[in-house]
Amino acid sequence: MQSVILSCGDELTSGATLDTNSAWLSQHLADRGIEVLRHETVGDSEELIAESISRATGVAELLIITGGLGPTRDDLTRQALARAMGATLEEDPQSLQQIATWFTARDRVMTASNRMQALVPKGASAIENHCGTAPGLSAIVGRCQVYVLPGPPHEMIDMFTRSVCPHLATAGLIARRVIHTFGAGESHIGEVLGDLMARGRNPRVGTTASGGLVSVRILAHGGRTEVAQALADADEQEVRTRLGDLVFGGDDETMALVLGRQLQAARQSVAVAESCTGGMIGEMLTAIAGSSEYFLGGVVAYANQAKTELLGVSKELLAAHGAVSEPVAQAMAEGARTRFRSDWALSVTGIAGPGGGSADKPVGLVYIGLAGPDGYSMVHKSSFPGSRQQIRLRAALAAMNHLRLAMKKS
Ligand code: AMP
Ligand code: MG
Repeated sequence: MQSVILSCGDELTSGATLDTNSAWLSQHLADRGIEVLRHETVGDSEELIAESISRATGVAELLIITGGLGPTRDDLTRQALARAMGATLEEDPQSLQQIATWFTARDRVMTASNRMQALVPKGASAIENHCGTAPGLSAIVGRCQVYVLPGPPHEMIDMFTRSVCPHLATAGLIARRVIHTFGAGESHIGEVLGDLMARGRNPRVGTTASGGLVSVRILAHGGRTEVAQALADADEQEVRTRLGDLVFGGDDETMALVLGRQLQAARQSVAVAESCTGGMIGEMLTAIAGSSEYFLGGVVAYANQAKTELLGVSKELLAAHGAVSEPVAQAMAEGARTRFRSDWALSVTGIAGPGGGSADKPVGLVYIGLAGPDGYSMVHKSSFPGSRQQIRLRAALAAMNHLRLAMKKS
């Protein structure tokens, strides 16, 4: 089954409101194996909405429209549907009754404009709204089933779940997997997974780069749930094998969650000494419930004086190499490990920019120190691209990733 999603409203075309309805609907249609051909956004124009309805109903078997059912003069979706159907609008007594009841229950007066909301194109039917005043609409146009749902996301979700879902045929079942990687660009991942990502293949495999990570999405179709699951499982295994250590987790797992689990399993603790990340690692680690079992604390050692007084980095070392250097990163990590008496300690010192870079220490240069049991001491030098915030985020993730990998090997 193929579908189109149409969003209506000037607030969407002007950019004042982000169209979250289409994204939500797409995900829920995909769960039922219904393909979404197109998202379309149109302002509050009866003519343009009618035109979009006519076009969509010519190519799809399902059209879901959201927005423009409100009581004000700029809400014109009901009129546009009538126009596309070549039908007149008629007052639906049951809808009028429901709207009136909604107002009485809240001790409010129903206005004449609310009465407009009870208008239904001849041949269409109204869908009761359990969260607001605007009834939805259901109609058949040509060989396309059309649903019109209210714009406010909570009303749309309620009406879709209650009144649309039960009528949608499940055109095949879907299994989804997400695998998160860190440390390689999207193009590298794309090359390694090239054949799996061929268009038209089932499962469909794609990548998304976001928040410093590259995630691999797997979407499998099958006539039965078990078939879709088996296809998705096989691809997940293949992706994990090919990408090896680049993979740190899947679905809802974050880097901090995965690292935390590893520390917990090993009954080991960690402390941090952060300069350019300014506490981001501590923030991410403590966002995980139960992190007190393994996270001992951190120092945001931004100034040289703080590095010396709080972490014991010697003034001579700072003078000889500068704060952003391998020996200082190492001394910060070792200093944190000693002071917090932790099993592991991470340190970060780098140039987040946009100013402060030089030829031999450019913006994006970051040293990550890692001190651990049995005299383990290591410094990783990286060069991260992007804005100040992106560099800081990547440095924080990279630091946690280094510890994840070091623990895997130890
Ligand atoms: P309407 O049904 O056009 O009166 O929409 C009422 C409100 O719902 C708008 O002002 C928006 O805040 C919200 N809304 C409408 N369409 C969308 C959409 N596609 N995504 C997110 N919010 C929306
Ligand atoms: Mg509107």
